Formats: sequence, structure tokens, C-alpha cells
Amino acid sequence: QLSKRLQAVVANINHGMRIADIGSDHAYLPCHVIKRGIASFAIAGEIADGPFQSAQQQVEKSGVGHYVDVRKGDGLEVLQVGEVDCIIIAGMGGLLISRILEAGREKLAGVTRLILQPNIGAIHIRQWLMNNGWELVSEQILEDDGKIYEVLVAERGDSMKHYREVEKELLLGPFLLKEKSGPFRKKWLGELQRWKKIVENLEQSQSSADTLAKKEAFLRKIAIVEEALT
Ligand code: SAM
Repeated sequence: QLSKRLQAVVANINHGMRIADIGSDHAYLPCHVIKRGIASFAIAGEIADGPFQSAQQQVEKSGVGHYVDVRKGDGLEVLQVGEVDCIIIAGMGGLLISRILEAGREKLAGVTRLILQPNIGAIHIRQWLMNNGWELVSEQILEDDGKIYEVLVAERGDSMKHYREVEKELLLGPFLLKEKSGPFRKKWLGELQRWKKIVENLEQSQSSADTLAKKEAFLRKIAIVEEALT
């Protein structure tokens, strides 16, 4: 049984797609989507030795070796152009996910859908999508085992669609901001508390141009989020 977080990722795969799961770790997701007949073919990409080996073992144990290819390498370098319809990158920071996409840009030819699940820093992904011609088509936010996760889904299209107040929507997510669900409120209330403590600490430390700029940046984010939550 997949975690609630990975189930939310899987729910965004269109039936029969060929998928790549980059940073697959145990390859739970590719094995699951093949066994359930959700995807027709899957590549599990992994950079690290240990996870790469456990991915291989999991594929063998699940008996899906004909449909899941486990490959070792950095980001999208394990892919050939045109091999998959959908790329999934889950369980990492948003900055790392956006760097993997940027480094592998030429491998995205032929890919129609990206499913990205950052643990933190979704703003970096939204920014990358916006700059690279990918339209955000849906977002989900959920709580799993006490942690809050976001799932971002993108397709090629109008990358500015859904954005009206760009700064606010890049931070909070245009779809999530409209919905303002329970997990959304919980996440941002937590961030507000954390940022306010940081501002207090900055106020107590010696003021320099650097601390002042940092404080201003946090105060701006606090104002944006407080307004969004009211
Ligand atoms: N995707 C799985 C999930 O969501 O449960 C596993 C997440 S795990 C925290 C992150 C995995 O990504 C690790 O196994 C790590 O080795 C791998 N990873 C990190 N950077 C990578 C990269 N540049 N290319 C491929 N894999 C990477």
C-alpha cells in the first residue's frame, strides 16, 4: 500500500501513460502503477547506490521487470528523448526538483505532463514552470503522517494562465490559494509562526544592511500570507 502522499501523486497519472519516476528510492511508485495497470511502462531513476539497489530488488520482488526499467544516474540523464509521456519527481525540495528539470531540459521533448511533489519550496517549481512554458493545471495539498505536502501538475501551455497576483500565487499556489483547504491553512499558519520568530531574532541581532534586508523580506512574506489567510 502506497503512502497517502504517493497515492496523491499517482492519482494524477493518466491511464496508460509511460512514466519516469526520478529519485525513485525503493521504486514503490513505479511498481504500484504497473501492478495496478495505471501506467504502461515505467522508468525508475536513482542517483545513489543504496536506493538504486533497493529499487532493483523491489522490481524483482514485485515481478514487474518487463515493464519497469531501473536506471542509475543524475536526474533526467537516465532518459532518452521520447521514452516517456510523464515525469514524476517526488519527495525532494522544490529547489532540487527545479534544478533537475533545468539540467535535463532537452529530455523534456515529447513529455506531456509533469507531476512534481516538493516537500518544501514549491515556489521554485512554480517559477521554473512559468519561465519554461509549462502551464500549471492542478495543485493538491494534503497532510500525511503529520506532514503537509504539495503536488503540482503541469502540461505544456500558457505558463501565465491562472496567475493574477504573481508574487502571492507563486508563493502559495494559484489553485491552492483559491481553495484555502484545512492543510493549506495549517501549513501557512505554521510558516507564519516560524517567520515571526525569525524576525524577532533578527531584531535582536546587530542590525546590518544584510539583517535589515532579510527582515524586510520576511515581513513582506508575512504580510502576503496573513492577507491570504484572512
Ligand atoms: N520519490 C520517492 C518518494 O517520494 O517517496 C523517494 C524520495 S527520496 C526522499 C529522494 C530520492 O531522490 C533519494 O533516493 C535520492 O537518492 C534521490 N535523488 C536525489 N537527487 C537525485 C538526482 N539528482 N537524480 C536522481 N535521484 C536523485
